[in-house]
Amino acid sequence: MTSIEQTPGSGQSDIAIVGGGMAGACLALLLSHHCPGLKVSLLERHPLPNSDAALNLPSFDTRATAIAAGSLQIFEQLGLWSQLREYAAPIARVQVSDRGHSLGASLHAGREVAASFDGMLGAVVENAALGPLLHRALGNTDVEVLAPAEVVRVTMTEQGASIIWRDGAGAERALATRLLVVADGTGSPLCRQLGIASEEVDYHQQALVTTVGLQRDHGGVAYERFTDSGPMALLPLPRRDGMHRAALVWTGEPGEMERLASLPEAEFIRHLQQAFGWRAGRLVRAGKVQGYPLKLSLAREQVRRGVVLVGNCAHFLHPVAGQGFNLTLRDCDALARAIGRAMAEKGTDFGQSGPGELDLLQAYWRERQHDQQLTIGFSDRIPPLFASRSLLLSGLRQAGMLGLALAPALRAGFARQAAGLAL
Ligand SMILES: Cc1cc2nc3c(=O)[nH]c(=O)nc-3n(C[C@H](O)[C@H](O)[C@H](O)COP(=O)(O)OP(=O)(O)OC[C@H]3O[C@@H](n4cnc5c(N)ncnc54)[C@H](O)[C@@H]3O)c2cc1C
Repeated sequence: MTSIEQTPGSGQSDIAIVGGGMAGACLALLLSHHCPGLKVSLLERHPLPNSDAALNLPSFDTRATAIAAGSLQIFEQLGLWSQLREYAAPIARVQVSDRGHSLGASLHAGREVAASFDGMLGAVVENAALGPLLHRALGNTDVEVLAPAEVVRVTMTEQGASIIWRDGAGAERALATRLLVVADGTGSPLCRQLGIASEEVDYHQQALVTTVGLQRDHGGVAYERFTDSGPMALLPLPRRDGMHRAALVWTGEPGEMERLASLPEAEFIRHLQQAFGWRAGRLVRAGKVQGYPLKLSLAREQVRRGVVLVGNCAHFLHPVAGQGFNLTLRDCDALARAIGRAMAEKGTDFGQSGPGELDLLQAYWRERQHDQQLTIGFSDRIPPLFASRSLLLSGLRQAGMLGLALAPALRAGFARQAAGLAL
């Protein structure tokens, strides 16, 4: 039997977050902001360099994230927007188009979305910049960051949960917590251990992600382009070394996407230009191309006494509408606020299970259900509609596009949902 060593510190925590990706790191920052006095621990199995170097974590790879105006407001409250804006390209306009048809729609900050953030619909930040920024910010809080710390077992107890984790030297350590937050990503082994199943819809599509060099300035335009093989997005990025840049998400049938990903750069760009058209001008470079299989995955339970799920392990969405992280951030904000309110009403101790009280977690879940259903529905309806060659669906798509082009109310609703300001 392996001996369990004491965790550095007390081995006790009010809230233990497993996973230091975008979900776990943001929740830790929000808890530190809204719930001062609570002891929060964050356990991440990968080492976290104590510098500005890129993090070797799944969340912070070569992707870029479209951060909606509503999410920027949350970063502003955390005091992080002033640092984030240095790495961010503002989205002033979203241009939606359909390949092979002349119809299209343009959504503008300030016109469709009066309540946009700082005059923008959102901003795009490379995950490789976002990761170090979030973890640097965590270094200025009381959050106990344990890394490398791989959680290997969890047992639910009367007081909450008992966590066994392995440190970098392979020693097993114990941590008792009143609330266990599962933020360990898709296919969560911890959810499996807890017997929490997920419902999955395989879109039979793959997303290729890369950075593209543009001959001319993107002017803050985010392009959403629908083709017969699947939707594509080209999102503005800040200039680097004099190069105008954009982040590409290109979805399609897995075999075809793998073939495209294996092409030499010049060939890849030629195919991309053909599929995307000339709205953003000439495409001149492409970086490393990475592929992601696409599915919708929803956990059957998100809260239990002493347990809450956040991020990809709770819901993993189609990326083309750029909603997954934004939804997660709104979940994390609501959870931290709900715990903060309970603390303000009942004091730091607030009952035996404190932040793990079932009533508190169920109230949080009820508060989040509407937004989750709306956002998941929005992301889930786009891929089948736009990935099909069926004449009927193509007709519906054109009708939708026509509606977007003509009806201000529909345009406003679409833009508000896309900007994370729908509620
Ligand atoms: C191609 C693509 C593009 C996207 N673009 C957008 C976008 O533009 N806008 C948007 O809003 N969303 C976007 N998303 C969604 C966004 O990337 C996710 O919401 C985000 O990655 C959520 O991360 P997470 O922290 O839940 O999971 P992960 O990033 O998987 O993090 C989980 C963490 O848990 C750690 N871990 C796992 N097991 C353990 C363990 N046992 N012990 C300790 N640690 C553990 C892992 O090392 C990892 O660091 C996109 C997604 C994809 C795939």
